[in-house]
Amino acid sequence: MTHTTRLAVPIFSETVDRLRESIFAAIDAGATLLELRLDLCAEISDDNVRTAVSNLPPNLLLLLTNRSSAQGGECPDDDIDRLSRMDRLAPWFDLIDVELETWRASERHRDLVRQALAEPGERPAQVEVHRRRRLVLSLHDFRGRPKSMQNDLLACADEPSCDIVKIAWHARSVRDCFEAFEIMRTCPKPAIAVCMGSLGVLSRMLAPKFGAFASFASLDRQTSTAPGQLAIRDLKRTYRWDALDASTAVFGVIGHPVSHSLSPAVHNAVFAETRTNAAYVPIDVAPGYESLKAFLLEVEAKPQAGFRGFSVTIPHKEHAIRFLRECGGAIDAIAERVGAVNTLAFDSDSGWRGTNTDYRGAVAAITAGLEKSSRHIGGLRALVLGAGGASRAVVAALVDLGADVTIANRTVERASGLAAEFGVQLMTWDRRAESSPGLIVNCTSVGMTPDTTATPWSGDGFAGNPLVFDTIYAPADTQLLRDARAAGCSTVGGSAMFSNQAAAQWEFWMGTSIDAGTYDQATAGAMAASVEPFGAPTDF
Ligand code: NAP
Repeated sequence: MTHTTRLAVPIFSETVDRLRESIFAAIDAGATLLELRLDLCAEISDDNVRTAVSNLPPNLLLLLTNRSSAQGGECPDDDIDRLSRMDRLAPWFDLIDVELETWRASERHRDLVRQALAEPGERPAQVEVHRRRRLVLSLHDFRGRPKSMQNDLLACADEPSCDIVKIAWHARSVRDCFEAFEIMRTCPKPAIAVCMGSLGVLSRMLAPKFGAFASFASLDRQTSTAPGQLAIRDLKRTYRWDALDASTAVFGVIGHPVSHSLSPAVHNAVFAETRTNAAYVPIDVAPGYESLKAFLLEVEAKPQAGFRGFSVTIPHKEHAIRFLRECGGAIDAIAERVGAVNTLAFDSDSGWRGTNTDYRGAVAAITAGLEKSSRHIGGLRALVLGAGGASRAVVAALVDLGADVTIANRTVERASGLAAEFGVQLMTWDRRAESSPGLIVNCTSVGMTPDTTATPWSGDGFAGNPLVFDTIYAPADTQLLRDARAAGCSTVGGSAMFSNQAAAQWEFWMGTSIDAGTYDQATAGAMAASVEPFGAPTDF
């Protein structure tokens, strides 16, 4: 069943020609509601606004907003002039947005709004379907959650003239989104609930699942009108806007930061390819165990939000295993062996489960590299650079495969702890180039985007023709890999580990196997898109 949530795009410009161009660009991109931001079109006359919004598709809803500076807009006029201009233009629109504060200001304010609602309309949609223009009563708080939110929402819902309730506030935590979901789901009138800022993106992405009246997106990444607003193309292509409905299962990547993660593009592409009713979102959870715990307890307390599983990345992998230990969740043998959890599954009946799929991804990538270079792992001298989360999974995998492992890390204390835990050797970071291993694995972040010419290994130090595996996947081809190839070495890039660990996550969540090629293809597609100017998600 398809959802009915409108995809709203704010439209504004300094000239009528550009306004018209933006309108058609938004329609082409898939907008089903256009919000004309009159306060951002100060140079355009009323006649030209009417021309710009004439003869548009009848099923497209047109919303008129003339936001005051007190409410985050740019209209310099006093309230009466501001509402009078809206009244003059209202017949060309289906909906008008008025702030609750303005509505409450005086009987004169309310009379002007009622007049704007009552005038005969030009638009077929309002005449045929609703018979009159509809009123959106809105509340905004750019600092945080409004203290009087519940009372104000009730006041909007109780107001007979109000057709749609809109609330937007600046999210202080990703948990604010759960409150927005409840408003969308349970408000007695159609509702728009937006958490602004990078911590609020879930409220925009998942609005159709909770039956919101609309969610706002920008025409492109440069023209957002509110913090955290996503581009329409990202919402539709990456976050599966058109496929969402009330029963969509929600998955996500928990980390801080998460905006660089390739996982949403990859998992969503596989959900689309396999026609799975699921969506995958980035979830920014502040550093520290307590932040992760608070988020996961919220997931547990609100099963109606539909969260079923998570990828876990920096800095929460070790927090995730601690959470499972504290709440009595099931930790599988691989996660126990690695000492970290990068994948969580949740079911309201059976509770939490955790595993580590980096281990399986590392085994697959190393095995592919060995086959490519016709080498055997037994007794192979492997040098692992780095002693963080990735290194932990790689070292466990190499030891289990039978390699002779040495770790070198910039911070020696971290390397010595890991070496002792897995019973492997240690080498100081400064002397790493003096060794001549048969396998070099980079588990540091040196060479990662944006510093793509950096390398953890000197360009002429490939004596003995080692196999070189770089776990970095952004960029796909690192300086280390380029140098190794130039020296005649076989190489394996991080995408092999990434796609295999992602496929293992699917299997852990869904309980069914998936063809490895499906994730290889999705990973290659997401990596190619991430270098396009408006490709995969890189910022919010
Ligand atoms: P992490 O826990 O933060 O560890 C980062 C490691 O990089 C530490 O060993 C750190 O050394 C080292 N490092 C950072 N800057 C350095 C510098 N300038 N010089 C020398 N060493 C430096 O991160 P992680 O989760 O292990 O991730 C590390 C890399 O693995 C990332 O590039 C990530 O993309 C990649 N990875 C790939 C996959 C995949 O599926 N392909 C999965 C997970 C991770 P110190 O201890 O001295 O700080």
